[in-house]
This record gives sequence, C-alpha cells and structure tokens, in this order.
Amino acid sequence: MPEDVNKYLPLSKPKIGISGKTGSWRIFAPEINYEKCVKCHICVVVCPEASILLEDDRPKIDYDYCKGCGVCARECPVGAITMRRER
Ligand code: SF4
Ligand code: SF4
Repeated sequence: MPEDVNKYLPLSKPKIGISGKTGSWRIFAPEINYEKCVKCHICVVVCPEASILLEDDRPKIDYDYCKGCGVCARECPVGAITMRRER
C-alpha cells in the first residue's frame, strides 16, 4: 500500500447532507488503538462512509460522519479497532 493512500485511491470525503451530519445516527463508535495499529490502511479503504482518512500515515476517524457500522473493526487484521457503545 502506498504511503499516502489518500493520493492514490478514488476516495471521496463525506460532507453534510439534507439530514445533517450522519455521525448523529451512530450508536456504537469505533476507537483505534494506535499501539496495535500496523498502518496497513485497510480500514481507510473499507469504510463505506469514507470517514477514515490518513493523518501523518495514521488512520483518523471523522466522527462527524462515521455511522458506527463496525466494518472497520471487523476488517482490521490486528484487532486494533473496537466498537464502544455511545448511547
Ligand atoms: S485496519 Fe487496523 S491496523 Fe490497519 S490501519 Fe486500520 S486500524 Fe491500523
Ligand atoms: S464504524 Fe463504519 S462508518 Fe465508522 S469509521 Fe468504521 S467503517 Fe466507517
């Protein structure tokens, strides 16, 4: 995977829609354990909301738009993402 995956993949950035920011739909929130993360960037690619982008080569979740689907946690090869109930 190239170092800056944002440059090479046709990933879009989420933006506000008519129902507002979709992060308000979330019940469970993903949390990344950076001590476990191996920077494979798989979570960036699989997030259906394009809500994980890279910052200094580390994945960062945009909670304004993450819907809490759990795909990133399921696909992370090292179990670095856990889902925490928010409400
Ligand atoms: S999938 Fe897991 S190990 Fe890979 S970048 Fe995301 S959090 Fe890190
Ligand atoms: S929980 Fe779903 S929407 Fe939120 S960052 Fe993970 S894959 Fe994307």
